[in-house]
Amino acid sequence: MLEPGTITEILTALKAAYPNAQTELEYRTPFQLLIATILSAQCTDQRVNIITRRLFHDHPGVEDIARLSIAELEAYIRSAGLWQTKARNIMKTCRILIERFGGEVPQTREELMQLPGVGRKTANVVLANAFDVPAFAVDTHVHRVANRLGLAKSKNPEQTEQQLMQAFPEHLWKDAHHWLIQHGRRLCHARKPQCGRCPLANLCLSAPKRRSDQEVQYRQEDSQDPYR
Ligand code: SF4
Repeated sequence: MLEPGTITEILTALKAAYPNAQTELEYRTPFQLLIATILSAQCTDQRVNIITRRLFHDHPGVEDIARLSIAELEAYIRSAGLWQTKARNIMKTCRILIERFGGEVPQTREELMQLPGVGRKTANVVLANAFDVPAFAVDTHVHRVANRLGLAKSKNPEQTEQQLMQAFPEHLWKDAHHWLIQHGRRLCHARKPQCGRCPLANLCLSAPKRRSDQEVQYRQEDSQDPYR
């Protein structure tokens, strides 16, 4: 685990690099954020926004979408990946919201995760952004960047979520989620991280220079070890 001082330095650098980071999904209500987040699986936020601008303009609320036929809903979301599955999940989710939750989006993770198409990450996105409930949503970017920086050492997003919640103060969870996503999208790409342009390179355990510095240090320590 990183020293608390290093974690603070990383947070400071991320905040300076992405001062206005927030969700790029467009929405006006918790329900619209829920639907947009379901649509965002394996789909860019830009594509989701193109879809939801039309969908929410014509059918802004849960009752409106529930009244559509599945074919009508599919016609709106056809340009999203996995659109047939998403259409079925959105329709079932709308019906459950109406029948069990009075047409409102529930505000607990357990209830949200009962909705079709809503996993832990989607539930956390809705909790943090729509309701200001402390939650740390971990997607593929957050998981990758956190592990590269050394903020987490984990095999799956759920472990990463637990470790990030321990590392960061609760009031920063929402912002830190957005900072790590932005960093993953802009510089710390999955295949070719732009370490040479990265403002966190001097703090990152995976930065090439730091890694080679550490290897030199380890080799020197090894060569001085009398029990080697
Ligand atoms: S130094 Fe490289 S690996 Fe580390 S956070 Fe920056 S881009 Fe990612």
